[in-house]
Amino acid sequence: RGRYLAPEQEGSIHSHNSNAPSYYSVIVLGGAGVGKSTLTRQFMTSEYIDTSDTGGESGVMTVSVLLNGEESTLEFIDPPDKNISIEELQLDAYVVVFSITDKASFDTATNITKYLRVELGTDRAILLVANKIDLVRKRKVSADDARLLATGYDCKYAETSAALNHHLDELLVGILSQIRLKLSIPVE
Ligand code: GDP
Ligand code: MG
Repeated sequence: RGRYLAPEQEGSIHSHNSNAPSYYSVIVLGGAGVGKSTLTRQFMTSEYIDTSDTGGESGVMTVSVLLNGEESTLEFIDPPDKNISIEELQLDAYVVVFSITDKASFDTATNITKYLRVELGTDRAILLVANKIDLVRKRKVSADDARLLATGYDCKYAETSAALNHHLDELLVGILSQIRLKLSIPVE
């Protein structure tokens, strides 16, 4: 039951079953043009994922993920570009995206990450995502710099290409793993 992400991975992603899954809200933040909407949309079109777009224009979509035998539903919020409001500080995970081709977007991601970690304390999942890794020759932000930021603020770091659908399943599993870690739900 369920379809596996990849032979070497523990996670699998499948359609809804009869057990009510735990429900988590995830927001995708970052500068304009870094690929937030593409990333969120690609989660929905992955061949591994059974999804429903519940939000229409509001940019809210849900994905069911089976990880370590337990199903969870992740609700993704792709807000219009604006300042973070206080309601957004009640969520389960924060995905901060920048483009490796855009140094200013890394500075924006740095500010958002610092702000969130200070406001949220240590018990909430924050992931730093370096997107557009397909544009290797236009790279302006090194993986070392990005990793340093992530490590400094207790964030999981991931590199993706939303356009090529590269590493998006790993990111999805990473998000759920971080949420469970912060909720102290045993990983194994
Ligand atoms: P948003 O403003 O953060 O929501 O960014 P969008 O998702 O609208 O993407 C902005 C532009 O970047 C669009 O033209 C996307 O096709 C492009 N884009 C997004 N992700 C990638 C990626 O991984 N690689 C490349 N080459 N282009 C991307
Ligand atoms: Mg967008």
